[in-house]
Amino acid sequence: MADPADVRRAAIRLIQADRRAFTITLALNSLAAAAGLAGPWLLGRIIDEVRTGAGIPSVDRLALAILLCALAQLTLARWARLVAYRFGERTLARVREEFVDRTLALPASTVERAGTGDLTARGTADVAIVGTTLRDVGPILLVSGVQALFLIGAVFVIDPRLGACGLLGLIGIRYALRWYLRRARDGYLAEGAATSQVAEILAATASGARTVEALRLADRRTGASRDALETAKRTRLYTLFLRSGFFPVVEVSYVVPVALVLLLGGVLLERDALSLGAVVTAALYLQRLGQPLDEVLMRIEQLQASSASFARVEGLATAPRVTDRDPPAPAGDRIDVTGVRYAYDRGGEVLRGVDLTVRPGERLAVVGPSGAGKTTLSRLLAGIDAPTEGTVTVGGVPVVALGPEQLRRQVVLVTQEHHVFIGTVRDNLLIAEPAATDEQLWDALTAVGADAWVRELPGGLDTALGEGGRRTDGPQAQQLALARVVLADPHTLILDEATALLDPTTARHTERALAAVLEGRTVIAIAHRLHTAHDADRVAVMEDGRLSELGTHEELVTADGAYARLWRTWHGDRMT
Ligand code: ADP
Repeated sequence: MADPADVRRAAIRLIQADRRAFTITLALNSLAAAAGLAGPWLLGRIIDEVRTGAGIPSVDRLALAILLCALAQLTLARWARLVAYRFGERTLARVREEFVDRTLALPASTVERAGTGDLTARGTADVAIVGTTLRDVGPILLVSGVQALFLIGAVFVIDPRLGACGLLGLIGIRYALRWYLRRARDGYLAEGAATSQVAEILAATASGARTVEALRLADRRTGASRDALETAKRTRLYTLFLRSGFFPVVEVSYVVPVALVLLLGGVLLERDALSLGAVVTAALYLQRLGQPLDEVLMRIEQLQASSASFARVEGLATAPRVTDRDPPAPAGDRIDVTGVRYAYDRGGEVLRGVDLTVRPGERLAVVGPSGAGKTTLSRLLAGIDAPTEGTVTVGGVPVVALGPEQLRRQVVLVTQEHHVFIGTVRDNLLIAEPAATDEQLWDALTAVGADAWVRELPGGLDTALGEGGRRTDGPQAQQLALARVVLADPHTLILDEATALLDPTTARHTERALAAVLEGRTVIAIAHRLHTAHDADRVAVMEDGRLSELGTHEELVTADGAYARLWRTWHGDRMT
């Protein structure tokens, strides 16, 4: 969430980004409002002329002037709206582009924490509401606001006493507005959050439908959805209550200034302090005030709702982002884990003080019982998440501080990543290294054994893949993912065996490709098969969030500790 000051700053920034259009809109609106003042004033003149006994021709002239002024106002107002709407559209495009940029710059851990439902709601419902404001509400507010100011100003020019009287009559609206606005922001924020929550719960239930069925969680999920809907309903009823208290008061309040001005005007007329024409003009101005004020008040309600949405959209700017600014370049390839503790948002400490130095070029296997924290450690090593305490550094620089461009030259987490992006084979590879030449792309494909099938594609590197294009099978997708790793050329790979090699059919195809990718790099393998540990240079044993043993396979077997027990069990099983 962005706080009100941030929202204000962001709005000013958007106006400044298109200063010219905004200034022109303001100028045209002022001209239109000024032309609008002429009508009542000329009408007042007609009354005074008739009272002093002027003839038909002068009345006709004044009437013609009224017509011309009305035409001028119409033309100017239309033009002003056109410019204002264009300004709104351009600004909306700017907001959308910023939203996409900021979303892409969010660290994966932030997205996970916020939930994709929340992000989706911000990107759809909230951006749409902000869009309506910029497209419709903003321009109308501008037009009506300028009009109202001109009308009140004009009454002051006719007679300051009448002006003061008119303003006094509007005080009721001010209080009603204060009452409403005090409650509206929080009301609409709560409504927005409740709507997000509904989306979040529905998205989670839908994407986990299989699990929900398998574990018979349907009742619980239905209950959660019902609670969320109930909250959403309550927040909506509250904002409805605010609206139904506010608007009736406002409707009545419009009549008050007109009545006051007529009363005071009558007194002034009696004392010959003002002409009848002037009183009529002032009353007409105030009576006209109702229409722009109505527009303003009605839109202020929308503006409130959308400022809550804008705060949610702008909130992304306050989220931590993956910096594109270059932190100091890592000096060397050594990875140091120092005093690392980590706790997920929900739940206790998962890592409780891990110290580990990974030497460049070594193969380190991390073993341990399920739930010991191996996967969590691998996420911290890969820079996906930051430790709650302590540091994970590569060449002396914290891995989480590295931007995506820098990070993938250092450390890459290899999973069973099957994702093929919509685009050509080339697009799929260039993601990892935008500057790569075709020769480098072919080298990478050859390294993972994918050159043969890519060569056979009708368009070679230019063949479209993914939805609507050529379908790729599992092993091919995995090969493309590994080719990306080759192109990114990190010195260290984190290999989560559980996810990297789970699928036996894929495993057979990609084992050789994987071996080629691992060649010459530091490898930290989260090992689930102990023969990986046997072949590693060193083995780290994790138990209950701590490293309990660290050494070569032989050393640990000789030490006869936890690893030796694991090894004997596993080895024994294999022997029998
Ligand atoms: P391992 O990989 O050794 O099996 P993990 O790192 O996956 O261990 O898990 C360590 C502990 O952290 C477990 O108790 C697990 O329940 C908990 N955990 C894992 N992921 C999350 C999460 N996203 N939120 C909360 N707790 C988690």
